[in-house]
Amino acid sequence: MSSVLQEAEEFIAKNWDPNGDPDAWRELVIDSGWSALRWPTQWFGRGLSDDDAAEVEALFFERGVPGPGQDKTNLWAGTMLSYGSDELKSQFMRKLLLDEVAMCLLYSEPGAGSDLAGLRTSAVRDGDEWVVNGQKVWTSGAAAADYGMLIARTDWNQPKHRGISFFWLPMKKPGVEVRPLRQATGDARFNEVFITDARVPDMNRLGELNSGWMVLQTALMYERVAMGGGRRGPVMRSTKGATAAAHGSIPASDTSLISLAKKVGKNNDPHFRQELAKLYCRRMTNEWNAERARAAAEAGGASPLASLGKLNMAEILHYAARIQGHLLGMNASLLGDEDSVEYAHNYSQLNAYFFSIGGGTDQIQRNIIGERVLGLPKEPETDREIAFRDVPARV
Ligand SMILES: Cc1cc2nc3c(=O)[nH]c(=O)nc-3n(C[C@H](O)[C@H](O)[C@H](O)COP(=O)(O)OP(=O)(O)OC[C@H]3O[C@@H](n4cnc5c(N)ncnc54)[C@H](O)[C@@H]3O)c2cc1C
Repeated sequence: MSSVLQEAEEFIAKNWDPNGDPDAWRELVIDSGWSALRWPTQWFGRGLSDDDAAEVEALFFERGVPGPGQDKTNLWAGTMLSYGSDELKSQFMRKLLLDEVAMCLLYSEPGAGSDLAGLRTSAVRDGDEWVVNGQKVWTSGAAAADYGMLIARTDWNQPKHRGISFFWLPMKKPGVEVRPLRQATGDARFNEVFITDARVPDMNRLGELNSGWMVLQTALMYERVAMGGGRRGPVMRSTKGATAAAHGSIPASDTSLISLAKKVGKNNDPHFRQELAKLYCRRMTNEWNAERARAAAEAGGASPLASLGKLNMAEILHYAARIQGHLLGMNASLLGDEDSVEYAHNYSQLNAYFFSIGGGTDQIQRNIIGERVLGLPKEPETDREIAFRDVPARV
C-alpha cells in the first residue's frame, strides 16, 4: 500500500463518524487536503499524481466516506486556481471549497448564447476599476449570488474571441439588477441581469486582459464534466451551502424505475426490461467516458471529450423520463401534488431540457465532437477574423 493511501486510511479511521456533524467534517477534509487531491498543498490540495489521487478516491468511495472530488467538479474554485491572482485565491479559495460563496455564471446574453463570442456587455477601464454595462440572461442562481463569473468585451478593435476579459463581479453592489424568469418546470432559478455602470476592481480579473475566452474554456470544461456525470463518491453535503439549490433534480435512477415498474405491475413487461437495459448500458458507457474526459482534462486543460459526456447525459435524462412515462401510461400526463410520482415524472421530463440547453446546447456539443474529437472541418465563420466593432449586432 502506498504511503498516501495509508495516510488516507489512518485519517478516515481516526476522524470519520457517519453520525457526526457534516459541516465539521467538510472543514476538516478541506483543511487537510483530502478534498482536492491533485491541487497544490498551498491551495488545499495534496499535489498528488492522477494515479495516486484515483487510489485515494477509490478508498473513500469504497468506505462510503464523502470528501474527494472538488478538484474535478468545483467549477468556481477550479477556475480561480488556474487563473486567479494569489490575492484573490487567498480571499476566496477556502470559502469556495466550503460552499460559502454563492456564485453565478454571467455568460449568455439576449444576442449571444451558442455564439457566445458575440457578447456585447462592455467593460471600460477607469483607474484601478472597470465600469461594466450590458445585459445577461438565463443566469442560474443570480438572485442569491454574491459574485458572478462575468465575461465582458474589453477591446472592440480585436476579433470577437480575442477582445474579451473574465471578471469576478460583486453582485450585491449598485448597478446590478436581477429579475427572475419562470421556467417550464415552474421553478424560477434563472434570471435576467441588467448591469448599469457596475464597478469591478482590476484585481478581480481572472487571466490576462483580452484573454477571457481562454479562461472561459476552462470554466466550461468544469461545467460539462460536472453535467456529464460519471462515478462519484458520496456527496459531501454542507447544511449551510450557498449553492445547494442551484441545479435541477436528480434523474430517475435505474433502481427507482424498477421500484416503479413493480408498483405498477410492469416489471415483467419485455419492452420495459429492454429499455431499462439500454438505459443501463448508456449510463455505464457514460461513466467510462466521463473518466476518460476527466483524465484528458487533468492532463492538458479543456477537453472536448467532456462534450460527449454532457450530450450523453442529456440523452440519458430524456430516455429515463420516457421510460417513466411508459410505466405510468396515461397517468404520466396528470399533474399531482409535489410529492407524487406524476409530479416527479413531469418535472424530470421537462428538466431534461436543462441539460440539453444549459452549458451549451446538444447541437453545439455535436459540433464540438465533430470538429475536435472526430477532426471534421470547421463550420464557416465569416465574422471570426474581423474587428468586433464591424460585426453587425443580432439584437
Ligand atoms: C436551465 C438553464 C440554465 C442556464 N443557466 C445559465 C447560466 O447560469 N449562465 C449563462 O450564462 N447561461 C445559462 N443558460 C443559457 C444557455 O447557456 C443558453 O441558453 C445556451 O447556450 C443556448 O443559447 P441561446 O438560448 O441563446 O440559444 P441560441 O444560441 O439562439 O440557439 C437556438 C437554437 O439554435 C441551435 N444552434 C445555434 N447555433 C448553432 C450552430 N452553430 N450549429 C447547430 N445548431 C445551432 C441551438 O442548438 C438551439 O437549438 C442556461 C440555460 C438553461 C436552459
